[in-house]
Amino acid sequence: MTPAIQRDNTEGSIVTATATRRTTKKKNQKSTRKPRAPKMVYVFGPDKSEGNASMKELLGGKGANLAEMTSIGLPVPPGFTITTETCAAFHTHGERLPDGLVDQVEKGIRFTEKASGKKFGDLKNPLLVSVRSGAAASMPGMMDTVLNLGLNDQSVQGLAQAMGNERFAYDAYRRLINMFGDVVMGVPHHDFEVAFDKIKKKYNVENDTDVPTKGIIELCEAYKKVYKKGTKKSFPQDPRVQLHASIGAVFGSWNKHTAVTYRRKEGIAGLLGTAVNVQTMVFGNMGDDSGTGVAFTRNPSTGKNEFYGEFLVNAQGEDVVAGIRTPRPVAEMPKWSKPIHTHLLKIRRVLEKHYKDMQDFEFTIETGTLYMLQTRNGKRTAQAAVKIAVDMVKERLITRDSALTRIPAGDLTQILLPHFDIATKKKNKAIAKGLPASPGAAVGNLAFTAKDAAQRNEDGESVILIRRETSPEDVEGMHASVGILTSTGGMTSHAAVVARGWGKCCVAGASDVIIDAKKQKATIDGKTYGPADTISIDGATGEVFGCELKTKSASISEDLKTILKWSDSGRRLGVRTNADSPEDAKRAREFGAEGIGLCRTEHMFFDPERIKWMRRMIMAENNAERRSALFKLLPFQRKDFQGILAAMKGLPVTVRLLDPPLHEFLPHEREQQMEMAKDMGITFAQVQQRVELLHEANPMLGHRGCRLSITYPDILRMQVTAITEATIACKKKKIDARPEVMIPLVGTKKELSMLRDLAIATIAETKKAKKYKGKLDIPVGTMIEIPRAAITADEIAGEADFFSFGTNDLTQLTYGYSRDDINSFLPDYIDQEILPIDPFQSIDSTGVGALVEMACIKGRSVKADLKLGICGEHGGDPASVHFCHDVGLDYVSCSPFRVPVARLAAAQAVVMENERNNSVKKTKKKSKRKKKATRK
Ligand code: PEP
Ligand code: MG
Repeated sequence: MTPAIQRDNTEGSIVTATATRRTTKKKNQKSTRKPRAPKMVYVFGPDKSEGNASMKELLGGKGANLAEMTSIGLPVPPGFTITTETCAAFHTHGERLPDGLVDQVEKGIRFTEKASGKKFGDLKNPLLVSVRSGAAASMPGMMDTVLNLGLNDQSVQGLAQAMGNERFAYDAYRRLINMFGDVVMGVPHHDFEVAFDKIKKKYNVENDTDVPTKGIIELCEAYKKVYKKGTKKSFPQDPRVQLHASIGAVFGSWNKHTAVTYRRKEGIAGLLGTAVNVQTMVFGNMGDDSGTGVAFTRNPSTGKNEFYGEFLVNAQGEDVVAGIRTPRPVAEMPKWSKPIHTHLLKIRRVLEKHYKDMQDFEFTIETGTLYMLQTRNGKRTAQAAVKIAVDMVKERLITRDSALTRIPAGDLTQILLPHFDIATKKKNKAIAKGLPASPGAAVGNLAFTAKDAAQRNEDGESVILIRRETSPEDVEGMHASVGILTSTGGMTSHAAVVARGWGKCCVAGASDVIIDAKKQKATIDGKTYGPADTISIDGATGEVFGCELKTKSASISEDLKTILKWSDSGRRLGVRTNADSPEDAKRAREFGAEGIGLCRTEHMFFDPERIKWMRRMIMAENNAERRSALFKLLPFQRKDFQGILAAMKGLPVTVRLLDPPLHEFLPHEREQQMEMAKDMGITFAQVQQRVELLHEANPMLGHRGCRLSITYPDILRMQVTAITEATIACKKKKIDARPEVMIPLVGTKKELSMLRDLAIATIAETKKAKKYKGKLDIPVGTMIEIPRAAITADEIAGEADFFSFGTNDLTQLTYGYSRDDINSFLPDYIDQEILPIDPFQSIDSTGVGALVEMACIKGRSVKADLKLGICGEHGGDPASVHFCHDVGLDYVSCSPFRVPVARLAAAQAVVMENERNNSVKKTKKKSKRKKKATRK
C-alpha cells in the first residue's frame, strides 16, 4: 500500500503530506495556537529508554521489548518507536502522517545519531536505519519493512569507505532502492528482478553473490531507472524523505489484505494498529565474521530446556525468516565462533530470568559484535507449552498459578491430536525427510497453490499444501490445508511459525522434494506426484510418506497430567462430558470427566434392529400399537443405559429424553420408503402419507423436545422405565448408578410440571414392578434452551431439580440464526465485523449469556441450591468456560477430547478471578491510604 505522498514536479523530490502541512502550519501560527501534539515517539538507547515491556499496546511487542532489553543492559542498536496510536491517527486522517510527527521523528533521529555516533545522510559515516512494523500481537511477516534507509548516491560512497567494503555498500543501496520502490512506491518487484537478471547475464554469473562490485554499482543505476519508470520520479536522495515515506508505508501495511486475513484467522481484534520501529542498522552480511539468527531460550517444539535456534553466516535476518537459505542449528555455532555462542548462552539466561518465560529472539553479528534485534514470548506447540510451564515451576521461576495461565487451554487439543500408528509407519518407508516444524499427523492430496488448497478444501477434500516456501499471501490456503510441506526454509521460516501457531501439522525444508508448482507436480525419490496423489506427513518427525497412513489418537503425557492435577485442585467448575455410548463415556472418564452432562438418546435408535420399532411407533394408528412398538425398544434402551451407568459408576449421568422431530427417523428417499413399506407390511402410500403429515416448515421450531412427550407420553414412559430398570439392575450388581432425567426444549412451567409428574410416577411404578426396596434417587430436571424458559426461570425452577443450559438451541433462538444454515452468511458477518466470532462456537456473553445469567439468578432465587450446568457446544470452549465460571454454574459438559481443555480453562478462570480481586483490593487500599493522607 502506498502512503499519502504528494509529488511535486521537481526532479527527485517527494513531499510528504505532513511536510506540506508543516509549511501551512507555520503560516497560520500567528493567528491560532494549536494544542501540543501527543507523544508519538519513544526512544531507546544505552543512556535512555522511554518505554518498557508493559507498554505493548502503545509500542507494539517489538518496540516495548527493544526498550526493555536496552534497560536491562542487552546490546540493542539504538533507535525509536512510533506508537500504535499514531498508526490509528494516520488511518483516521486519510493515511497522512499526523501533525507533529515529523518534528518528533527528527528528535528521535538526533537521539539515534548521538547514541550510534553516526549521522543520518552523512557523506563519511552515514547512519542507516531499518523501519519495521510491530503490533501488540505478533503477526510474523505480515506487514512491511524497509531496510538500509539513509543511503543515497553520495552516502553510499561514505559507507563504502567507513566499512572498507565497496561491494557491500552498493549492495545495501540496491536493496534499498528495490525495497523502497516495491514496498513504499508500489513498483513491481519483478521489474527489479529483470534488471538483476540482465546484470547477471552480462557478467555471466548465476548467483547474486557472484556479481562483481562493478556489476552491483551498475545494478544501482539500473534499479534507479526501474524506479523512475515505475514512479515517474527519481529515487529520493533526501534520507528524511525516504524515512517519512517509509513510516507511512509501514502504517499503511496494517490494512494490507494479508495482514487483515491473518488477524481474522488468528482472532486478533481491537488493536489500534502497528507501531513503527526505526532502528540503527547492523549488518550480518559483512563477511565471514558476521551473521544472523533466530533462537529460542528453550525448544519450542518439545519444550526441552535447551538452547535452540538457527543461524546463517554472512547473511541478513530476512534470509533466515524467508527460508531462502537453510540455516545451521545454533549447536554448531561454537565451531564458527565460540565467544559469540558463549555470549548468546549468557543472554539466554538473562532473558529467561528477566522475562520468566521462554523467549524467541533475533540477533545479528556485525564483524564479531553481537546485537539483539528483538525478543518476545516464543510461540510454542501445546506439548512444549505444557512442559515449559511444569519445568519453570520446578525451577522456581514461576508459580503454579502462572504455569496454568501459560497454556492456551484450547491448544491442548493439539496434544490430543492424532499421530501415525507406529506399526503402519514401520511398514512404509519415508520418501523424504524435512524438519519437524509443527507436530501432528496429516493425510491429504497435494495442492500446489494456496488458492487451489482453499478451493478444494471448500469442496470437502483434505489437502496438503506443498510449496517451496510459504509467504503471507498463502495464509488462507495454509489454513484450509490439513498439513503443510515445504522444500526450503528452517524451523523459523514462515510456514513453520504460522503452522505452529495454529497447531497445524507442518514439515519444512524437505530439500529432496522437487516442486514444480506450474506443472502441478512434485518429484520425490524419482517418482512424480500430482494433485490426485495422497501423501502423509509427520510433523513430529519431519517424515514424508507417499501413501495414506493410518492415524491414531493421542495420549496424555506426565507433564499434562501434572497440569491437569494442578487445574483440578484449583477449579470450582465441575467438568462433565457429552457422551451417548459406554465407549465414549469410558474415554471421557479417562480424560477426567466427572459425569455425563448430556446423553442424547436419539442416536440409540438408528441400529437396524431398533429403527424398525421406532418406525412402527411412528406409523402406529393408535396408542396401543404405539405402546407395543415402543416397549419393543425398551430392552435396547435399558441395555444402553446400563452400559453407560456402569462406565460412569459413582458419577452422575444426565439422560436427555428424545429430542428431534420424528420425521428424522423416517427414510426420505423413495426407494428406501418402498423398502420400509415392504418390511412393515404396509403400502407405500401409507408411508408417503405419514412422511407428508410429519413434514414441518420449521422442524427446529416444531414437534420436538418435550412436545413429543406431551403428545405421546408413552415415549417418556418407555425411556424413564428403561432408565429406572437399568439403575435397579446396576444397583443389584452393587454398581453405584446415578442417573438424572432431563426434559428438553421446555418453554413453560406447565410442560415441565406435567412431564416431571409423569417421570416421577413412572420411576415409582417401575420400582414397584421390579419389587426394588432400595433407595432410588433420580433427579428430574430440564434444559434451558428456549429464551422463554430463561426469562421465566423462577417459575420453571419450582419444577426442576436442575437446569442444564442448551446453548446450541438458546443461541439459535436468541439470534434467530438457524444453527444448520448459519454458514451461508457467517463469513460475511465475520468479515464485516458484525460478529466477532461464530456465536455457536463461543458464547455471546452479552446476549445469549445475559439470558443464561438471568436464568441462574432467577432459578436460584427460588431454589438456592439448584444445580446448574451447560451442555451446549460452548462447554468445551475456553472463553465460554470462563463465562460459565463467572455466572456461577456448577459444571460444564463437553465432548470427550475437550474435557482436558475445560478442566484447564476452569482453573484459569479461578486464577484470573483471583487476580481481578487482588487488583481491586490493591486499588481500594491505595484510595484508603490517599483519603487518610488528605484527612491528615
Ligand atoms: C443444545 O441445544 O445446546 C443441546 C445441547 O441440545 P442439541 O444440540 O442436541 O439440540
Ligand atoms: Mg437443544
